Amino acid sequence: MKKALVCGAGGFIGGHLVKRLKSEGYWVRGVDIKQHEYCSSAADEFILGDLREQTVCRAITNDVRFDELYQLAADMGGAGYIFTGENDAVVMHNSATINLNMIEEAKNTKIKKVFYSSSACIYPEEAQLDPQNPGLPEEVAYPANPDSEYGWEKLFSERLYLSYQRNYGMEVHIARFHNIFGPEGTWDGGKEKAPAAICRKVAAAADGGEIEIWGDGEQTRTFLYIDECLEGIRRLMESNFPGPINIGSDELITINDLAKLVMRLAKKHVGIKHIEGPLGVRGRCSDNTLIEKKLGWRPKWPLAQGLEITYRWIEEQVKKKGVRKCLNETSVF
Ligand code: NAD
Repeated sequence: MKKALVCGAGGFIGGHLVKRLKSEGYWVRGVDIKQHEYCSSAADEFILGDLREQTVCRAITNDVRFDELYQLAADMGGAGYIFTGENDAVVMHNSATINLNMIEEAKNTKIKKVFYSSSACIYPEEAQLDPQNPGLPEEVAYPANPDSEYGWEKLFSERLYLSYQRNYGMEVHIARFHNIFGPEGTWDGGKEKAPAAICRKVAAAADGGEIEIWGDGEQTRTFLYIDECLEGIRRLMESNFPGPINIGSDELITINDLAKLVMRLAKKHVGIKHIEGPLGVRGRCSDNTLIEKKLGWRPKWPLAQGLEITYRWIEEQVKKKGVRKCLNETSVF
């Protein structure tokens, strides 16, 4: 039986990844600084620990011979957390420390394969000025100029993990995720991303009411449903390609149209009020040429399919928490 260590197992993608690995017959140890907020972990063992502490990283890797490490733990959030500038130092410090600690212990304990979760946020700002972004092929990452410190830290850690591969002969696989969404992800509290925030706002709004969106809403993004992301991760880990590789959708949509799509799924007519707020880049789209070439696969679910499932789940959460409380949430997305 293969043994996997999932760091960040109490989070959105990590929580789903544990379930996926269990369904494939793995023995899984999950680690996180917190329990999963929306489900009980499917891991065989779940350890609460702070991965900024080298002693914790040593303890969780030392007593079991792991075949695979999935390093997803990071200090992250949506635009309201990443792009305001207020959290730059803590985001960089926390995530870089975790990444440094975990790759060192993976080397020391000879874990056979390592997965590292990077982000589309590593791409240079100037490649994302056009809302009709034709796609970001992996090689445009350099010359580097990410628009956030979160992106710079991800780029540093990509290079860190690839250095360990070169110098210590480790097998490393790196994916750059493009806006992953789905049920059991952060949907309130300020760290949520656009699809979840918009679903929450529409679910809480009265038919004929209004929601707020940052900027003019004409900024574009692509969004990938969680199951497709997991498929990409697993295929990458089974391949002999180290990456970095995009794991994202190429179905480009404006934030205004995303909101309208959610309204259609909710069967509600809701107005959009545009207000000032942190925006990120103007247009971002995954280029899926390399993933198709290297893995013989590319994501194919239409956005509406995953959004329908996600909307229903968030609608449930809004009912549980109470519409009034949700209406008072300050974050937009
Ligand atoms: P998430 O915030 O739900 O999960 C990250 C987990 O890391 C959280 O559960 C958090 O508690 C844990 N963590 C943070 N600091 C820790 C510490 N010191 N010790 C132990 N655990 C700690 O985020 P996610 O959406 O599941 O993202 C997973 C990974 O994928 C992250 O590295 C993220 O940067 C990357 N990523 C995600 C997206 C996306 O759209 N969700 C896009 C690009 C990259």
